[in-house]
Amino acid sequence: MEEYAKEKDIPIMQKDGITFLMKYIKSHNIKNILEIGSAIGYSAILMASVSEDVKVTTIERDEVNYMECLKNVKKCNFEDKINVVFQDALEVNLAEGTKFDLIFIDGAKGQYQKFFEKYEHFLSDNGTIVTDNMKFHGYVGKSSSIESKNLRQLVSKIEQYIDYLRHHEGFDTKFYDVGDGVAVSVRKKNEK
Ligand code: SAM
Repeated sequence: MEEYAKEKDIPIMQKDGITFLMKYIKSHNIKNILEIGSAIGYSAILMASVSEDVKVTTIERDEVNYMECLKNVKKCNFEDKINVVFQDALEVNLAEGTKFDLIFIDGAKGQYQKFFEKYEHFLSDNGTIVTDNMKFHGYVGKSSSIESKNLRQLVSKIEQYIDYLRHHEGFDTKFYDVGDGVAVSVRKKNEK
C-alpha cells in the first residue's frame, strides 16, 4: 500500500505518525474510531489492526481512492471491522446518538475546523480528536513568506486551525512532533 500511494502520489500518514496513533489507541483502550479521509485505507487498516475490538468508520469522497480502499479492506479480511463511506464528510448524516472514542481528522486541510465543529458532537465523553499535518511539511508558522498563493492560503488555514485548537474551551490540545505533526485534543471533563 505504501508503494501504491507513493507511485500515485497519494498522501498517507507518515510511519512514525501512524505508529504514535496506534500506540495511543492501544494505551487508551479505544474501540470505536471515525476517520475523515480514508485515501486507500492505509491508516484505517493499521488502526483497525491494533486489537480485535477496534472498529473504524472511514469517510472518503474521492471515488478512485474509495474503490482502492474497499479493495484493501477486503484483502485484509477487515470488512467486519472497517466501514468505508463514500461521501463528502461535510455532507454525511450520522444517526443521532452515534458516538466515537476517537475521531481522526485527515481530510482536506482547509476544512479541518469545519470537520472538528461538525464531528465533536459525535465524540464520547472524554473522547479524543486527533488531527494530522500540523507541521504541513515544515511550512506551518511561515505562511507569510510563502510565494505560491494556494500554498500560502492552505498553510494559513492550518495555522488558524492550530490557533482554534489552542483556544478551544472544551478541549485540551497537545501538539506532538511526530510524522507531519499530530494534534491530540482531549475533551475536558464535564464539557459536551
Ligand atoms: N488517512 C489516510 C492515511 O493516512 O492512509 C490519508 C488521507 S489523505 C491525506 C486525505 C484523503 O481525504 C484524500 O483521499 C481525500 O480525497 C479525502 N478527503 C478530503 N476532503 C474530504 C472530505 N471533505 N470528505 C471526505 N474525504 C475527503
